[in-house]
Amino acid sequence: MTDTEVEFRTVIEPFRIHSVEPLRMTTPAHRRAKAAEAAYNLFQIHADDVLIDLLTDSGTGAMSRDQWAAIQHGDESYAGSPSYFVFKDAVQELFPYAHVIPTHQGRAAERILFQVLGGPGKVVPSNTHFDTTRANIEYTGAEAVDLVIDEGHDPASLHPFKGNMDVARLEALLAERGGEIPAVMMTITNNSGGGQPVSLANLRAVSQVCRAAGKPLILDACRFAENAWFVKMREPGQSERAIPDIIREMAGYADGMTMSAKKDPMGNIGGWLAVNDDALAQECRNLLILTEGFPTYGGLAGRDLEALAQGLREVVSEDYLRYRIRSTAYLADALVRLGIPCLMPAGGHAVYIDAKALLPHIPPLHFPGQALAVALYEVGGVRSCEIGSVMFGRHPDGSQQPAAMELVRLAIPRRTYTQSHIDYVIEVAERVKAGAADLPGYRIVDEPPALRHFTATFAPIA
Ligand SMILES: *Cc1c(COP(=O)(O)O)cnc(C)c1O
Repeated sequence: MTDTEVEFRTVIEPFRIHSVEPLRMTTPAHRRAKAAEAAYNLFQIHADDVLIDLLTDSGTGAMSRDQWAAIQHGDESYAGSPSYFVFKDAVQELFPYAHVIPTHQGRAAERILFQVLGGPGKVVPSNTHFDTTRANIEYTGAEAVDLVIDEGHDPASLHPFKGNMDVARLEALLAERGGEIPAVMMTITNNSGGGQPVSLANLRAVSQVCRAAGKPLILDACRFAENAWFVKMREPGQSERAIPDIIREMAGYADGMTMSAKKDPMGNIGGWLAVNDDALAQECRNLLILTEGFPTYGGLAGRDLEALAQGLREVVSEDYLRYRIRSTAYLADALVRLGIPCLMPAGGHAVYIDAKALLPHIPPLHFPGQALAVALYEVGGVRSCEIGSVMFGRHPDGSQQPAAMELVRLAIPRRTYTQSHIDYVIEVAERVKAGAADLPGYRIVDEPPALRHFTATFAPIA
């Protein structure tokens, strides 16, 4: 970590390129054919047919030289691998929870935790549950409730911490249905709410309410480092603090965490569950062994654990975080200058275009976000992700209701694309905007009962 004075306007990538991957140039005609073949579901498109892949920042980042070197240190012992202890120490350096349980992804941690804590009649509040978290809670028969502050639903609000929990609503829910609540969650940053941060003050308030009610608070901490950077930049009194200090304070307000190591830990795969409670940890380990593996490797190889430990050391670098947050804001600022409505301020890992505002002629249940995502792909080969009524519009009873917002997420893989790639994305978005009035809505032809956005098939509405 350095103490760089920011003297120049240009915030450069704090790395140079060591190994390159080719991109395949494609034509609009080719992409239109591929979109139709994929039944307009961008998850079904072959990545070779994508030029700039902003579908997700999950596991798609570039590992560093030192992470690849760490891979060589991987020890593949079934039980008690030294790589587990390297991993555990790196996690506990930032999140000093007593038990650290590796899993193959974040959702495996969620499944295990809610298999223990969930079930029919239970209610789990969060600022906003991520889609896999909500699905894993609902799969057990429990109810997932989102209690983000009102500003979090307003794409135009410039509130600095739009990921905050509405503490009064949490207190009301605890008063009314406290007996049904096994735990409270906080997603940092709030991915489904636009990659928006949560303040230390809000975490502290939520923590106090949870402790008074005797409820464990669990962080869904996928983007903890980006959240800490926003705290340092935006929260009064935090600007002089070291990032790891801020992270440890965040961790201290909670009793455990679920984690996708494909996000801020800079891994291509991995996750973990960490808790303080001994009995809960034991129950979770028992479930882990059923489907993920022995508790010192979860679903991971020893080499993955080593790469994650190194990633955790790199992600707290201030040079990295300054570049990371600035490069996301660069895209958002450019789109807003072109008159493309975006959720502002820009999130940490992604820019969210407000498809409802850009495509007012498409009603929510004709999926304006899907329409925009398909157009970005067909016009420029840019793959994005709908976060709106496709993702959240279907309820467990099968009924359809519009989501709170119709967003298209341009997620930025870590350390992967250069500024000229992003300039190209900006130009593609400008062209899509010029033809926006002619874009069709979509209907769903076929869908699975849960997490339908991954596999549903679509057809344009003439
Ligand atoms: C990615 C993500 C998850 C799920 O993690 P996977 O590793 O994809 O299973 C959970 N919560 C949030 C906030 C996420 O961004």
